Amino acid sequence: MHLVLIGPPGCGKGTQATRVAAARAVPHISTGDILRHAVASGSMLGEAVADAMSRGELVSDEIITDLVAERLADLDAKSGFVLDGFPRTVEQGIALDILMEERGGLAVVELTAPDDELVRRLARRRTIEGRVDDEESVVRERLAVYRKSTAPVLEFYRRRGALLTLNGDLPPEAVTQLILREVESIHV
Ligand code: AMP
Repeated sequence: MHLVLIGPPGCGKGTQATRVAAARAVPHISTGDILRHAVASGSMLGEAVADAMSRGELVSDEIITDLVAERLADLDAKSGFVLDGFPRTVEQGIALDILMEERGGLAVVELTAPDDELVRRLARRRTIEGRVDDEESVVRERLAVYRKSTAPVLEFYRRRGALLTLNGDLPPEAVTQLILREVESIHV
């Protein structure tokens, strides 16, 4: 399984990526998690991305593509993966195509939920996890960045007939079942 999950902040990408990856025994690769660990560890990578992340902006395509290339080269990703948070720009989508050469097809799932539900979930997550980018003004910026930079990625995959759009506004277990059932039918 080579699955990409795309959707606005709060759509449930992270939760679903964890569950689907566990069900299929492949790694869950979250670029947001990798970057947050880098920031927490105070590494050079962390220092380079901390400002952009705290403002809700994207880090550079080059940094993120190098990071994903490195992670996909790990042994555990050889038989498949669930990618969460990448690609977020068309440039990253093109880079992923190159990384996928000779690895077989991608399945791409868009998870949707109404804006007021997204905002509600992120406000709750901010209380529980304390993510600074879940603060309301940053959430607004992240939603704007999603519409401007990431929505075109959906078109990029839709044109190939590879995109599956699923309702993320259901109980988590129902969304997981939906993804596992529908994903068999799509390949780039
Ligand atoms: P996430 O946990 O996926 O919501 O990502 C948190 C933050 O990490 C984003 O708001 C961006 O600042 C950064 N980030 C994660 N993935 C990417 C990506 N593919 N391209 C650029 N920035 C990213």
